[in-house]
Amino acid sequence: MNILPTERRSLIVLFGATGDLATRKLYPAMLKLYEKGNIREHFAVIGTSRHKIDDEKYREIVEKSVAKETSNKKMVSDFASHFYFVTHDVTNVSHYANLKDKSAELDKKYALGGNRVFYISMAPNFFGTVAKNLKTQHLLSENGGFNRLVIEKPFGRDFESAKQLNDELSAAFEENQIFRIDHYLGKEMIQNIEAIRFGNTIFEALWNNRYIDNIQVTLAENLGVEERAGYYDNSGALRDMVQNHIMQIVSLLAMEQPVAFKDTDIRQEKVKALRSLRVYNVAEASTNFVRGQYGGVGNSKEYRQEDGVPKDSNTETFVAGKLLFDNYRWSGTPFYIRTGKKLADKFTRVDVVFKKPLVDIFSFPQSGSTPLNANVLTIFIEPNQGFSLMVNAKNSEQGFHTEPVNLQFLEDSKRTKETPQPYERLIHDVLKGDGTNFASWPEVASAWKFVDQIRRVWDIQQPMFPNYIPGSMGPVSADELLARDHREWVYKLNK
Ligand code: NAP
Repeated sequence: MNILPTERRSLIVLFGATGDLATRKLYPAMLKLYEKGNIREHFAVIGTSRHKIDDEKYREIVEKSVAKETSNKKMVSDFASHFYFVTHDVTNVSHYANLKDKSAELDKKYALGGNRVFYISMAPNFFGTVAKNLKTQHLLSENGGFNRLVIEKPFGRDFESAKQLNDELSAAFEENQIFRIDHYLGKEMIQNIEAIRFGNTIFEALWNNRYIDNIQVTLAENLGVEERAGYYDNSGALRDMVQNHIMQIVSLLAMEQPVAFKDTDIRQEKVKALRSLRVYNVAEASTNFVRGQYGGVGNSKEYRQEDGVPKDSNTETFVAGKLLFDNYRWSGTPFYIRTGKKLADKFTRVDVVFKKPLVDIFSFPQSGSTPLNANVLTIFIEPNQGFSLMVNAKNSEQGFHTEPVNLQFLEDSKRTKETPQPYERLIHDVLKGDGTNFASWPEVASAWKFVDQIRRVWDIQQPMFPNYIPGSMGPVSADELLARDHREWVYKLNK
């Protein structure tokens, strides 16, 4: 079904316009929105950074960064004609006057109705400074248009720093004007979790501790730290992946049904779920979380030998953990999570493991029959998009034996390729003013409080690193975490 696009009017002021994220992700995403008509005549972008370049040079940068998206040169140059550059040091208060004048000029030229998006695609230490200066230097429009602030990750490095940053942002913007990017929330199949859960009686009716034995979330990467070593070594997998992406996925899986499918209702349920997540004491944190760091094999360097990583680094490149919710729906049903670098493959998936039938009437040990398997709903998030449901069925051989059969739906590669990329969806949501797929402050705060507890324990315990080999699924302790509970990971190597 083709739904006609609604054109969104706005000025986008982009801080960090010459950076990696802007050129690799943001301009291509904006081009897609332009191609589809979500932005068209009434939009303009002011790119800023300390670079001394003019509009023409900036448009060349933009055109180059979208070149591989289309062969339509005319469209690309029409698109790029909406881009303007202002040389600007965000720490220099006097520079904001130029930006203010340019914003007013473009607002008039493109009839933007005073709508403004301020997108900070810069290192996080600048987020607070920019927000404050936007307010004090009167960059926010006051003629009835909207003012929205988009913030990249990471949002703090613990609860305290996140709170301080949030206080700085809140001094200039209301919570409903702040869009904290978690690009996982822009992924098609993450958004599909809500459709699968709340659009299907067969799942939602069973979505609780009576019928679900455990839920597993895996975000696996097969690459190492590559050129991000400097940033990564200061962060580690717990801060880089668990606090944000994994906690967001878990909250979508654990939340109650929202009253309506709208951002405020969904946020409310996610926050409630995260508030009932058990924050561990020292003993629980030590038992329920394990960490790893990759070693080397063949030409594959161990983490401590990577360029920019200290030789004695104790930064974790792998995390696995057990999460427990103390609420009526989930009490007793653990959520197991894991993420890491240099693992066997690159993929993200969720496995929902249902309980086995209480009585197995097909069990005839004397005739060698196999016991029933647990039903497993797997949500494939990337690279494949789709889901599968493992059910027990009779096999067609002589006698009566059951075997697991997979009911599977995978988007074909053409549809997967056409699926809007996260940044396209998320920028569109910002222009619409829809905060559904962004992390709200109470969610971020709860996630940090949980993660800080694990970090505290790890900071005082000496790890035995390196402890897993590249191409594996992490350290043995990650398997032991589940084995202790008489469970195992659904996705295993050699299966
Ligand atoms: P980057 O490549 O280092 O770009 C930083 C930008 O900020 C450059 O345009 C730089 O230009 C500008 N800048 C630096 N200091 C400035 C100042 N004082 N005043 C004005 N402009 C200044 O960083 P990035 O990789 O694009 O990352 C941007 C943000 O996105 C970060 O928060 C990062 O954590 C987040 N992020 C990035 C990625 C990614 O794939 N790159 C993924 C997820 C999240 P000048 O030096 O010319 O001023």
